[in-house]
Amino acid sequence: MKNSLYRLIVGFRRFREKYFLQEDADGSIYTRLAASGQTPKTLLIGCSDSRVDPAILTGASPGELFVVRNVANLVPPCETSDIGFHGTSSAIEFAVQNLKVENVIILGHRQCGGIRALMSRERRQNATFVSQWMMIVDEVHHHLHAAHPNADDETLCRLAEMESIQVSLRNLRSFPFVQDAIATRNMNVIGVYFDLEQGQLWHFDDVSNAFVRLPV
Ligand SMILES: [Zn+2]
Repeated sequence: MKNSLYRLIVGFRRFREKYFLQEDADGSIYTRLAASGQTPKTLLIGCSDSRVDPAILTGASPGELFVVRNVANLVPPCETSDIGFHGTSSAIEFAVQNLKVENVIILGHRQCGGIRALMSRERRQNATFVSQWMMIVDEVHHHLHAAHPNADDETLCRLAEMESIQVSLRNLRSFPFVQDAIATRNMNVIGVYFDLEQGQLWHFDDVSNAFVRLPV
């Protein structure tokens, strides 16, 4: 057997032990989840980066988080044309409309490869799927290079990682059903930044319009 498959089976055995075989009076966690379906309270939009797994980061159990992960945890603006495959938008729609989540969290992070590609000065010479996708936050590239002409790359990337969370928050609010959920049932829309170098969590504060470090 291939080593990669063997590693998967070993991991799954451990997972099955914990969530299928361990039972209390109501059965196992999955007995309950299979019988009653999922009712997650939170939609989390995170990056595909292997170091930023939302369930590991938050200690969530199966059934707690509805997760969509993409390059650089971006939310596109609400586009209503028939053209295009709107993977992230459809996940947001399902979570807000059908699951009626109470919270939507956009989770950005330090050392984001998508943001590094965005901030690269040579990015337009090689059009790739990533560079196309990162056009969602194109304004961040222009704004930060203009505002901080002498900043080093790491500083620019860190600022861009945070600023693109703000753009995604704005885009999220451009969906009519998100506006409706905020207005009618007080759904929370939250921007969070994980600094994986320092082990810190930051939160975008609407009042001060800035990221504030969370006490952990
Ligand atoms: Zn990333």
